[in-house]
Amino acid sequence: MPESLPGIAGGLALAKVKWGMNLSPLPAARLAMLNADLHCHSNVSDGMLPPAEVAARAKANGVELWALTDHDETGGIRAARQAAAEFGLRFVAGVEISVTWAGKTVHIVGLGIDENHPVLVAGLESVRGGRERRGREIAEQLDRAGIPGALDGALRYAGNPAMIGRTHFARYIVEAGVRASVAEVFQDFLVEGKPGFVPHRWATLDDAVAWIRAAGGRAVIAHPGRYPFDDMRLGALVDHFLQLGGEGIEVVTGSHTPDQYVTFARMARHAGLLASRGSDFHGPVESRIDLGTLPPLPAELTPVWHDW
Ligand code: AMP
Ligand code: MN
Ligand code: MN
Ligand code: MN
Repeated sequence: MPESLPGIAGGLALAKVKWGMNLSPLPAARLAMLNADLHCHSNVSDGMLPPAEVAARAKANGVELWALTDHDETGGIRAARQAAAEFGLRFVAGVEISVTWAGKTVHIVGLGIDENHPVLVAGLESVRGGRERRGREIAEQLDRAGIPGALDGALRYAGNPAMIGRTHFARYIVEAGVRASVAEVFQDFLVEGKPGFVPHRWATLDDAVAWIRAAGGRAVIAHPGRYPFDDMRLGALVDHFLQLGGEGIEVVTGSHTPDQYVTFARMARHAGLLASRGSDFHGPVESRIDLGTLPPLPAELTPVWHDW
């Protein structure tokens, strides 16, 4: 069990030593209903709040088990863990890795990672590598589409220039008055077939899962309902993921409709995957779903946190 997990079902002695908290084991029924939020972002990637403020908001919203999962970067984990300990909030270290699979971008969340593991650290560094050049190319396309100054504009929203991404461009395009919301920007720009979309090769699925496992973590397919795959492709993704030792899938996420909770609960059960729950919170106003406010996991699923 990774050192960062203040054991819910087990590892309590370790947790008490490391955290100074008095945790008690939870019965199985309570475990399933736990207000776990295992997917969100800080300004270390494309969230709006610093890690400690995300922790404070999670605590205020009643989250009982929290993971910070910044894109391709674990630079916020230390501050997140420290703030969580201050608030008596159970914390697991996480990351959301950008992957290219079947020519499309897929996100793989790693939970319970040792964020200092050299294999993971080197892997994430390689994934982040191309973002600056991609950012320049996005800005050139936007310039040709009549939106000048987007690189500097986006960089003002990126707490970390090496992590510049589409969300930062979207915020600038809203600021420039071109569209009213980040969601509208993504409809008209930055996605395949629209100005500001620059194809990019991220990590392979094999590498992302291997890095997470090397770091002692559990790999989880993020927001499966968001990918442009038909059922057959999605099934192939799950098969490939299982072969690599992937263990979980997000069922209840801010990216899914209630119908999709049902669809992906079924998929989790059929594939024998652990189920995860996470808001994918990026910031107040901007995110439709706030930390800790999603419905619980559907019954008869094994939560990804069942043995923490
Ligand atoms: P990037 O890693 O730079 O390609 O940016 C991906 C991020 O853009 C995602 O993590 C989301 O935060 C955001 N994003 C992608 N598609 C949308 C969308 N349709 N609406 C709002 N945000 C989106
Ligand atoms: Mn994001
Ligand atoms: Mn994602
Ligand atoms: Mn995310």
